[in-house]
Amino acid sequence: MKKKIVILGSTGSIGKTTFNIIKKNQKDFKIVLLTTNKNVNLILNQANQLKVKNILISSKPHYLKLKKCLNNKKIRVHNNLDNLQSIIKNKVDYTMCAISGLSGLKPTIDSIKLSKTIAIANKESIICGWQFINEALKKNKTNFIPIDSEHFSIWTLLKNQNTANVKKIYLTASGGPFLNKKKSILANIKPKYALKHPNWKMGKKISIDSATLMNKIFEVIEAKKIFNLDISKFKIIIHPKSYIHAIVHFNNGIVKFLAHDTSMSVPIANSLYLESDKFNYKSGDIKFELLNGINFLNPDINKFPVIKLLKRVKNQSSYFETILISINDYLVQKYLKGEINYLSINDNLLKLIKTPYFTRYYKLKPKNIIDIKIMIRKVITYLNKNKFNEN
Ligand code: NDP
Ligand code: MG
Repeated sequence: MKKKIVILGSTGSIGKTTFNIIKKNQKDFKIVLLTTNKNVNLILNQANQLKVKNILISSKPHYLKLKKCLNNKKIRVHNNLDNLQSIIKNKVDYTMCAISGLSGLKPTIDSIKLSKTIAIANKESIICGWQFINEALKKNKTNFIPIDSEHFSIWTLLKNQNTANVKKIYLTASGGPFLNKKKSILANIKPKYALKHPNWKMGKKISIDSATLMNKIFEVIEAKKIFNLDISKFKIIIHPKSYIHAIVHFNNGIVKFLAHDTSMSVPIANSLYLESDKFNYKSGDIKFELLNGINFLNPDINKFPVIKLLKRVKNQSSYFETILISINDYLVQKYLKGEINYLSINDNLLKLIKTPYFTRYYKLKPKNIIDIKIMIRKVITYLNKNKFNEN
């Protein structure tokens, strides 16, 4: 029997990779629903290629425009991400949650009820809404697979292990495109250079976060939530070649490394074929030339000042995570639009996160996802009234 699949965010980097794996393995999978925000051409093209019956376009103007001109009666076009249960009548086997940002949180939680297995790439949802995701996973007995490569690696290394025996977990970071550049030249770096990640092809927002190392701060928080370990157990280590994705050091002295090619297809394909004997990922030989030349480095706090934020990360969830994500997102978008310079992203973030307007929320916890949405709006309203340092 073919596995029934939903891809939320099928037109993005993770969504396209998932789609392409399914396209190559149509004997094993059938896509039930694809979603996008605005990329009407690509989603139509995807639906036509694999005869997908349902597509969802979140942006109202884009949805209405397509509705007017679409003649293909075999494709049903939907608009409302809040209404997934009216599209998916029977539980599907697997949902890939690959919408970017916190717009992915509600559809992720809703999909948990509608899917036997849920694969979550959308790290913002895990970071801000893990308590709600975890509750829904338990209530609906849905399997969960983390897709972020470091988390997929840790998850694989910890399978059948007691997490009480973990001494330390190292999350590797490539260091991004500016690892070996002097800080003084970074102020005027244009987005097109910051977006050029040396090893990974990703969406814009996560590419900038990788350059500043903010992505790794998010990943430590993400790992803390998923594996429910004390924050002091996690450490960031720079590994420029990105061949090893996680290292787990156990109390018994054993250290396990997980290496794979620098491609998100590895965690995604493995999650689609979990526990299946059919699966054969056609990778090349082990890259001994890379393993021989591995050079692990401690991140330089001068070059990557966001490392300081790790001191602020607590074991208990609070509004801190939502505020951190929202401020960073706002500043990254401002940088991408050319309104602030590269170094201002972190300078402003580190200042803003300490302001009393925000710190008063760090002892409070959102009670539901509406609270998270209200906080995002508060942050944006506050930031819209602010003047930003331009360095
Ligand atoms: P992209 O920006 O490439 O794609 C995002 C997808 O979500 C697109 O389909 C986009 O539609 C859709 N989308 C964006 N905003 C909305 C919205 N408001 N409502 C509905 N749909 C929306 O992101 P990535 O694929 O790079 O990343 C997806 C998630 O996975 C992120 O949370 C990221 O942090 C995480 N991740 C990504 C990795 C990677 O290698 N790319 C690695 C690990 C984690 P449209 O095409 O119209 O914009
Ligand atoms: Mg990652």
